[in-house]
Amino acid sequence: MKISIIGGGPGGYVAALKAAILGAEVHLVEKKRLGGTCLNQGCIPTKAYLSCADLYDGIMKAPGFGIDLAGEATLDFGKIYQRKHAVVKQLVDGVTYLLNKRKVTVYQGTGSLVSNHAVKVTFEDGQTETIETDRIIIATGSVPILPPLFKFDGKQVISSDEALQLDTLPASMIIVGGGVIGCEFGQFFRKMGVEVSIVEMLKTLLPMEDPDVSQILQKKMKKEKVAFYLGKGVETVDVGEGSVTCTLTTGETLTAEKILVSIGRRANTASLGLEELGIAVERGKIVVDETMRTSLEDVYAIGDVVDTPFLAHVASKEGVVAVENIMGRQSKALYHAVPRCVYTEPEIAAVGITEKEAAAKGIDYRTGKFIFAGIGKAMVIGKTEGFVKVITDEADRIIGASVTGAHATDLLAELTLCVHLGLTAKDLGEVIHPHPTLSEAIMEAAHDVHNEAAHSF
Ligand code: FAD
Repeated sequence: MKISIIGGGPGGYVAALKAAILGAEVHLVEKKRLGGTCLNQGCIPTKAYLSCADLYDGIMKAPGFGIDLAGEATLDFGKIYQRKHAVVKQLVDGVTYLLNKRKVTVYQGTGSLVSNHAVKVTFEDGQTETIETDRIIIATGSVPILPPLFKFDGKQVISSDEALQLDTLPASMIIVGGGVIGCEFGQFFRKMGVEVSIVEMLKTLLPMEDPDVSQILQKKMKKEKVAFYLGKGVETVDVGEGSVTCTLTTGETLTAEKILVSIGRRANTASLGLEELGIAVERGKIVVDETMRTSLEDVYAIGDVVDTPFLAHVASKEGVVAVENIMGRQSKALYHAVPRCVYTEPEIAAVGITEKEAAAKGIDYRTGKFIFAGIGKAMVIGKTEGFVKVITDEADRIIGASVTGAHATDLLAELTLCVHLGLTAKDLGEVIHPHPTLSEAIMEAAHDVHNEAAHSF
């Protein structure tokens, strides 16, 4: 079986590796850098930045742990920038190594579909090559949405792509959009000393999460002196010499050195030849069935280019599902247990449905909650802010959960397993959890569903 994949992000490169493992001959076309948005302009560089901010925070708290710092801790953004680059490079090199070892043929060029059994690669020098193939997987990802209103110039008005390329810090920044990307950048730049204002159309940050979750983050960022303009939109943008001024729908004006637009992303379907081949696209995204097959026989699509959550782990899973189906296995993409993580301080992580959604769906749900302040390990590490919340249905099955606080994104894995397998709160509560760990809050939250948490009153 010969499989050709267009796009080498976490969707495309994982699909390529899986296909090679299952014995296919694999051809992967990538126009920029292997690893895609995730490794080069998304998950990895942002988390490399946030880990520096986190370490700095920790160092500032050292005296409270009885550690006297001889000199003052100072930030060197140039070195933080270089470290981020080094982390990205190491991971991209790792992907290159794995593809090479698995004998995947990688083309550095732009791919498009000639038919359902042929992919054209256009190289930078204009030369072309056509790959005849049995199956095609489209994994071309997404790009930032930049409406003309913002007068995007990539210098003063930037997207997350350019924000990660800034090698010096601006004095001030307006961030439009209070979703995951806006919050992560907002907190990072503020911790680096930048004056940050976040403008968000809706009344709350992270609008897809429950209010008790997003409010904790908002309170924290307010304390860090991030200015919030919630429930307000941007009406005009004026790009001047060294500064940008925005007028909000309320008539207020904000001026900063740069404006970062993070209002969402759109699927990257341009120039692939979809229309010519009649591949169905709805609201800009490629239509697929649960096996990731498009409307055209032998052509599959995965990741940000289809209408599923814009997340690296979703793209990778869909890549595996597409390949398994191509290679004759029966495989379906399931979305009831997709973990959602925000790597701010405190971290926020959730899976399954929120309490708000459970109520809206008329589910006879129950919740169990346990705060980190009641957990020995949280006190030991000096991070008592946050909680675990578990949502169950009428049969006691865990249908949603959220964790806010230290290591929330790692702790979520256990709850993801529960939602994935449909385990009950009773099942989860019965599991012996190691002491002292933050995971005890998960066990206690499960007991709290039945009002039986031992360490709360
Ligand atoms: P992409 O990663 O976008 O890869 C698509 C690839 O296709 C790109 O390399 C592109 O160059 C290539 N390509 C496009 N067109 C062509 C063509 N015609 N020919 C050849 N190649 C082509 N997700 C998380 O899960 N966790 C996070 O913490 C997280 N943080 C993020 C932070 C930021 C700032 C951003 C922007 C995104 C973040 N995401 C995160 C989202 C995540 O990066 C994406 O969901 C994920 O990268 C999607 O994978 P993909 O393979 O579908 O597409």
